[in-house]
Amino acid sequence: MRIVEIREKAVPLNSSLRNAVFSFEDMTTSIVAVITDVIRNGKPVVGYAFNSTGRYACGAQMRDRFIPRLKRAPEADTTLDPKAFNPEAMLKAMMFGEKPGGDIERSVGIGTIENAIWDAVAKIADVPAYKLIADRYNGGQYPEKVFCYVGGGWYAPGKGIPELLAEMRGHLDRGYRLLKMKVGGAPIEEDVARLEAVLGLLGGDASRLAVDANCGIGPDRRPAYAKALAPYGLRWFEEVAHPVDYQGNADFISAYGGAVATGENLFSVEDFRNLVRHGGMRKDKDVIMIDIPQSYGISTAARVLAMLGEHGWSPRSVLPHGGNQMSFNHAAGLGLGMCESYPDAFGVFSGYADDAVVEDGWITSGDWAGMGFERQNALYALMREISS
Ligand code: MG
Repeated sequence: MRIVEIREKAVPLNSSLRNAVFSFEDMTTSIVAVITDVIRNGKPVVGYAFNSTGRYACGAQMRDRFIPRLKRAPEADTTLDPKAFNPEAMLKAMMFGEKPGGDIERSVGIGTIENAIWDAVAKIADVPAYKLIADRYNGGQYPEKVFCYVGGGWYAPGKGIPELLAEMRGHLDRGYRLLKMKVGGAPIEEDVARLEAVLGLLGGDASRLAVDANCGIGPDRRPAYAKALAPYGLRWFEEVAHPVDYQGNADFISAYGGAVATGENLFSVEDFRNLVRHGGMRKDKDVIMIDIPQSYGISTAARVLAMLGEHGWSPRSVLPHGGNQMSFNHAAGLGLGMCESYPDAFGVFSGYADDAVVEDGWITSGDWAGMGFERQNALYALMREISS
């Protein structure tokens, strides 16, 4: 049970959405296919992944370094036999010759390949990836369903409050109950008006609304946002400061008081350790996010959770960034608090299995094999192209 070949391809996300800082117009992602020597129904088992959203395709690093290193690693370290599967050894092989620090230059490529390998191994074992993950890192425990919130409320050309409300109404009609919207990309008065409009849609229930600044509120604007938004008691206020401006995060928490979230742009165990040591984060109140394909993959996420546990943090306070089929498996398998969802935001890369049904905010964990990409017709068609 071995890797025969690993292929990758850069694919555009085709999105004109914008957050407080940048537009996704030029954004790409890497699709990875891990072709194995295991034959099922006359065809090789293939594991797939893509590098989540928000970081560009990274084919060069994969082609030049990580794929050749995996191919030359000892067979025992790279076996796809589910019983002997050793993701830590594969990570070590991909990290050969890499200098500590500068994680983002490699963590996305490595994490994407790693996720595709988990997809392959789970398919070989004929179990959902979340079960394989849970067996390995969570005592075999996984939930029957996962609560999913919408990462929406983006800025877009020509999108005013009526269009924002139409979007949010659509999410509620689909069965979602907890919504998140962008802030920081407009003057504060405009953001407050947008927020009040969405709150109105939720009957004023601020526990069902979170906001996300995508690091786009500079220190000069933060006191005003802290003061204006604190009285609402929102579910959380996400990424006010630069991802590694831990003091800036702590200062904002002091001024704001309410729950905050951050972490989706951290890439190593050490980054997350710095966040809990120096970022002012409160384990009984705040939320830590992690983008698993972008931060070295699932085995590293398990290490992050173990480290957070040493600091008193529960996995329930940790959420995966990126609303897609992979993050659903991560949330279910690692016992995370809930999962994000991007209905319609990033084309074929957003959302879950085509037959997933949202009921009062919950989505049932499916009986797919691997990550379940085969249950996403349009995405799977793209993936299949690079492996055939
Ligand atoms: Mg975010």
